[in-house]
Amino acid sequence: MNKPASVPEQFDVVVAGAGFSGLYMLYRLRQLGLSVKVLESAGDVGGTWYWNRYPGARCDIPTTDYTYSFDPELEKEWTWSEKYATQPEILEYLRFVADRHGLRSDIEFSATVTSARWDEPEKRWRITTDGGQEIRCRYYIMATGCLSMPKSPDIEGAGRFAGQVYFTSRWPHEGVDLTGQRVAVIGTGSSGIQSIPLIARQARRLTVFQRTPNFSIPAHNGPAPADRLERLAEDRDEYRDAARWSRGGVPIDPTDILGGTASEAVRRERFEAAWEQGELFGILNVFADQGVNPASNDIVAEMIREKIRSIVTDPGIAEALCPKDHYFGTKRPCLDTGYFETYNLPHVQLVDLRKQPIVSITEEGIETADESFGFDAIVYATGFDAMTGALVAADVAGRDGVSLKEKWAAGPSTYLGLMTTGFPNFFMLTGPGSPSVLSNMTVSIEQHVDWVAGCLENMRDEGLETIEPTALAEAGWNQHVQDCAAITLHPTANSWYMGANVPGKPRVFLPYIGGVNAYRQACDEVAAQGYLGFRLTGPGEDRCRDGVIRRMQPDVAMVLEFMAAAGMPPLETLSAADARALLAVTAEARPPGPEVGEVTDGVIPGPSGHLPYRLYRPAGPSEGLRPLVVYFHGGGWVLGNLDSDDPLCRDLCARSGAVVVSVNYRHAPEVRFPAAALDAFAAVQWADANAIELGGIPGQLAVAGWSAGANVAAVACQLARGAEGPHISGQLLVCPVVDSDMTRPSYTENGDGYILTTALMRWFWDHYADPADRGDPRAAPLHGNLEGLPEACIVTADFDPLRDEGVAYARALEAAGVPVRLVRARGHTHTSVTMVGVVISGAPVRAEIGEALGDFFPAP
Ligand code: FAD
Ligand code: NAP
Repeated sequence: MNKPASVPEQFDVVVAGAGFSGLYMLYRLRQLGLSVKVLESAGDVGGTWYWNRYPGARCDIPTTDYTYSFDPELEKEWTWSEKYATQPEILEYLRFVADRHGLRSDIEFSATVTSARWDEPEKRWRITTDGGQEIRCRYYIMATGCLSMPKSPDIEGAGRFAGQVYFTSRWPHEGVDLTGQRVAVIGTGSSGIQSIPLIARQARRLTVFQRTPNFSIPAHNGPAPADRLERLAEDRDEYRDAARWSRGGVPIDPTDILGGTASEAVRRERFEAAWEQGELFGILNVFADQGVNPASNDIVAEMIREKIRSIVTDPGIAEALCPKDHYFGTKRPCLDTGYFETYNLPHVQLVDLRKQPIVSITEEGIETADESFGFDAIVYATGFDAMTGALVAADVAGRDGVSLKEKWAAGPSTYLGLMTTGFPNFFMLTGPGSPSVLSNMTVSIEQHVDWVAGCLENMRDEGLETIEPTALAEAGWNQHVQDCAAITLHPTANSWYMGANVPGKPRVFLPYIGGVNAYRQACDEVAAQGYLGFRLTGPGEDRCRDGVIRRMQPDVAMVLEFMAAAGMPPLETLSAADARALLAVTAEARPPGPEVGEVTDGVIPGPSGHLPYRLYRPAGPSEGLRPLVVYFHGGGWVLGNLDSDDPLCRDLCARSGAVVVSVNYRHAPEVRFPAAALDAFAAVQWADANAIELGGIPGQLAVAGWSAGANVAAVACQLARGAEGPHISGQLLVCPVVDSDMTRPSYTENGDGYILTTALMRWFWDHYADPADRGDPRAAPLHGNLEGLPEACIVTADFDPLRDEGVAYARALEAAGVPVRLVRARGHTHTSVTMVGVVISGAPVRAEIGEALGDFFPAP
């Protein structure tokens, strides 16, 4: 019953929503002794499982896992009857939980929050419901669901149909009998795919309107999987903990098999096993790289398409059901029971909306570009305004009266998917920017609820009144969320994960794809660091430890973790020979880099003996001349050779369209300063003199190098100017060594833990140059005369000890009148940008480098 709007009720906390999230949140808040009111639009608990009562509705995560874990006793008292329980059973379970913990007494049903306003002077939220009720509370928590706001039908004439209209997401409680009817289903996402086979059993004629075919694998429903049950019985706590620290919230063994390198037999075996298992996280784990590598993804996608073709007897219909416009997994894959088989039934018809789009819904049925269809009932399985829909609809306005809708006009912005700047004491459970819909949601829900409860407990214990993320922390998290998505194939799809299903919704990747485990780690660290990135206030208190919790590119972090686990000895503890041997072994396992037109090896005359070179000619007509780039490899003047930087040279060649000549200079300690620099200069002179033979356009010559290679490239430019030639059009310096001063802040910040360490830099310098020589411009070009040097592109990486000297060189060149393009490799280390084919987030940086190289030369 809604109460009259007289004296506002007061609670410590108001929670909107009584699904999995709201129920557990209530339980935890009560444990803290806080007064709580839960407001729920529906007539009962259950959320998703209250509303989605369509035939065939089931979970798609095995119910051994799609279940609460906070109460071990609960698990003893409730046994799931199937591998994938039906909607009625899951709803019954949530009712059982609510009753067992006496939760209903704090829940008001049929009460929708219509607005929430932050009252700054009072430090309270003012909550209003559709019944006119007003409630004041210190904390407002929205547990309103990611998939709870049905998408309104965006089809012309939708209100016109005179027959029965049903939404899978609002299915009538009394059930629907479609026996003998002519039924249309619009939509082939999970809801459509689950309901279509059962609707087909009743309908006289079923017509499915498909806009995008979807990947689906058979659920093979039945008893709960024996392996999971056994593991649970053996050690329940270990199992639940494994789920909490897994990538998706379900314990699995992540494979390290790559699609491209696996044999055909292994590919087939892994795929068939996943197909037979019938689990989402199984089919998403056929290959380690299927989520990031198009070729690997296509192997799995094609095997699924083969299955579809083998099930559906009409080849034309089979083809229409084969998804081809998105990578597998970039739209939520479905689990089905007899979905594709349904199209073999004579009374079931598939209408491919890509070939004949819907023109309008009419009074009698549906009109497409080619046909008019008459129906008794239309079922909309058209999905949800996911992740932001319910939050924005509830009209939340924070400090200064700015609403979530306004703040999020260009896409949601949150810190950890939990809070948002400008909205003090406002929490979202499984909000945008958290793993939520990409995970087993019960695990993610429990993690969010526990974190919020821990936060409120801390606030209470410390006598604090408000908490709110800082703009810096929030921007950093949003960036990290997008960085994680950008290395995957996800952003390429028109999915609801991208907001692409709702006309006009900004196209932004909504959930966090870095993994449940990585996310939990970040949230734990934030709390452990005194709520890093939050401003906390209380009487006489205003504290804020501002900062960004994750600044490193996610794939760079993975490489570092991998290397740490591999236990490689620090290079500076080895002899030069052993260090070279170790690097040669690790280089063998790398991807080769892109194809180029031609690669040839040769030697050039150096100042004292021959120097080997490798020439990379871009693909395309071999006779034409191209700009020429002389490249010098990295390795601290001690390590590296033509092979070490081969993938990078291929990449530079392919991206810039220039002929790249990589020259191997003499190394220390065998030959010390200034041999490497003199070799580099000699190589540039030779390349200039032999441009045409090398396929280069005379006069169009640039130098490039990485690390110590960038050092000798920069020195070569200074020597060429001093010697009045040759003319160099540009210098590309990737993470260059330009000084021997190790006191800059980047040495303090990044001197340990990011592969190139302070200790290793010392080792390099000690091998290369006497201390007395280290200020010589031929060792430290920052100390040289910089006037009249070629224009430069300088790349610096955030986690590089050399970062600040690269910036200093750029500033000094600019001050000397040299045009400079400074490229910041955000979230990268000294080495990661060069890891072609390994560190995907390096590709955009290398694209910029390739463009800068091209810009050194006149347009062809
Ligand atoms: P919900 O269950 O969506 O509950 C939110 C509640 O908030 C709703 O009851 C709603 O009425 C209420 N509400 C919204 N706005 C307001 C307001 N302004 N005022 C008051 N009340 C409001 N996830 C999985 O991990 N595995 C699965 O197998 C799975 N299957 C799914 C199947 C279907 C058909 C759907 C639609 C989703 C499925 N999901 C699945 C996702 C599912 O939504 C979550 O697993 C989980 O149920 C979400 O719980 P919740 O409490 O966060 O949100
Ligand atoms: P969905 O995945 O968004 O699917 C909606 C379908 O409707 C799509 O095929 C879409 O086509 C189509 N559609 C939307 N608007 C249309 C239009 N104007 N004209 C024609 N077709 C239109 O929604 P859903 O099936 O409800 O599933 C949403 C999510 O809920 C799932 O991804 C899953 O996370 C969860 N869920 C899970 C289960 C389960 O198995 N446990 C069941 C149901 C839902 P396009 O693809 O072209 O946009």
